[in-house]
Amino acid sequence: MTLTSATPDHVAALAACLPDGTVGPVPESYRTEPRARWEGASAALLKPRTTDEVARIVRFAAEHRIGLVPYAGGTGLVGGQIAPGPATLLVSVERMTAPAEVDPLDNTATVGAGTILSDIHAMTEVQDRLFPLSLASQGSARIGGLLATNAGGVAVLRYGNARDLCLGVEAVLPDGSILHGLKRLRKDNTGYDLRNLLIGSEGSLGIITAAVLRLFPRPRETGTAMVVTESPDTALRLLAHMRDALGEALSAFELIHGQGLAFLDEVLPDTPQPFSPRPEWAVLIEAGAGAGAELTARLEASLVEAFEAGLIADAVIAQNKAQAQAFWAVRETIPEANRLIGSVASHDISVPVSAIPEFIARGGPALRSIDPRFRINCFGHLGDGNLHYNVFPPQGGRRKDHESQRAEVSGTVHALAAELGGSISAEHGIGRLKVADLERFGDPAKLAAMRAVKSALDPLGIMNPGAVLRA
Ligand SMILES: Cc1cc2nc3c(=O)[nH]c(=O)nc-3n(C[C@H](O)[C@H](O)[C@H](O)COP(=O)(O)OP(=O)(O)OC[C@H]3O[C@@H](n4cnc5c(N)ncnc54)[C@H](O)[C@@H]3O)c2cc1C
Repeated sequence: MTLTSATPDHVAALAACLPDGTVGPVPESYRTEPRARWEGASAALLKPRTTDEVARIVRFAAEHRIGLVPYAGGTGLVGGQIAPGPATLLVSVERMTAPAEVDPLDNTATVGAGTILSDIHAMTEVQDRLFPLSLASQGSARIGGLLATNAGGVAVLRYGNARDLCLGVEAVLPDGSILHGLKRLRKDNTGYDLRNLLIGSEGSLGIITAAVLRLFPRPRETGTAMVVTESPDTALRLLAHMRDALGEALSAFELIHGQGLAFLDEVLPDTPQPFSPRPEWAVLIEAGAGAGAELTARLEASLVEAFEAGLIADAVIAQNKAQAQAFWAVRETIPEANRLIGSVASHDISVPVSAIPEFIARGGPALRSIDPRFRINCFGHLGDGNLHYNVFPPQGGRRKDHESQRAEVSGTVHALAAELGGSISAEHGIGRLKVADLERFGDPAKLAAMRAVKSALDPLGIMNPGAVLRA
């Protein structure tokens, strides 16, 4: 189905049927994205405040066959929130921030799609509850975008990803109808699960306008440690050991490669690092539990056992909150260091947890056969089998000098992930970046079913054209 390019007349007509200030030009900051790979060119930026206004926008777009690109915090890393052509309208949910309704008995928070993740943390903390979704972009990412990408982050090991943390969504579907799904139900077996279809659909099936989130008791005790380990294999065995020792309390297990620590020294040298000399492999471990769990003592005892078993060579246990935050700052600053250096190609693959050492052992040589000078920063959520596997130019080099190698690099990484039974996207989604890779590595039956769902719900193809599936 051919879409119509949004014209100044369309923009004026929309402005006339929406409250003042809802429709405007697209500011520069909405045209760029964190990795500076795409430049947005939508015809106008729409900032609705209510679900009804979103529905009016979608109905107008459907009537005139104009593409809509949903936008939340703009932190997406695969270009899903950026439309390169001028034909579309950008719909930001940033004003949909009605105060959260926190229900401590249901353990739920009902929030508008524009609510920033760190604000959700603050709102729920006041009620002595935890919303465990946690990632480095939490000061900007909004819940609409986090659900649309089924975001993961550092606490998936214990609490699951965004999908596992959401009980209900309200959304405007591509025909302008409103899906009233703000249910606080743990159980609801009434047919197809549209909530789970919308979560992870990256704006290609509708615009999420509000959500009901699952809350948890706040851990009364937290233990945080950074350890040095010899290799991905010892890290994997350490994970099994810590799980046995700490059980459900283990909430994060983040693998860090020395290349990431070297990048911090190179571009963000003020970031304090716990180990000197820099280790080749480190792991950030966190556990949380209720009062009386004596977590720090248990963490210490299990690390002593790990040391005796040869799984770690050194360890520091945070003695207070500030030290724990300093350890986390190392992990959370690595993406910024990566950004400043500029990758040739970035990947967020997953493989079965047990296959991580093989992936790392084979990935380096395969990439260095393309260019022996590549620097690889491999880090991430080992406990989830998910690695951020990013390839960089040699020191002093520029990513634009390696543009011609990018497709081969990503093809090599994704082919290895696929061979090991993995996924080409564990967290960031498909967006516009990985459409061709999804076609290459995706299961044909799944792709056919996805196209059928898309054309059933969005027969005109107005929702985020070109994202996830080819327009
Ligand atoms: C420093 C940094 C660290 C990151 N770390 C992680 C990490 O650990 N784990 C992880 O999973 N991701 C991570 N990300 C990626 C990013 O933060 C997530 O993908 C996040 O979920 C995007 O949220 P957003 O509000 O910025 O959405 P946006 O970037 O605005 O949009 C993302 C996608 O969702 C669609 N969308 C936005 N709002 C809606 C809506 N209301 N309804 C329907 N579709 C919508 C957009 O069209 C787009 O396709 C990181 C990003 C950065 C910059």
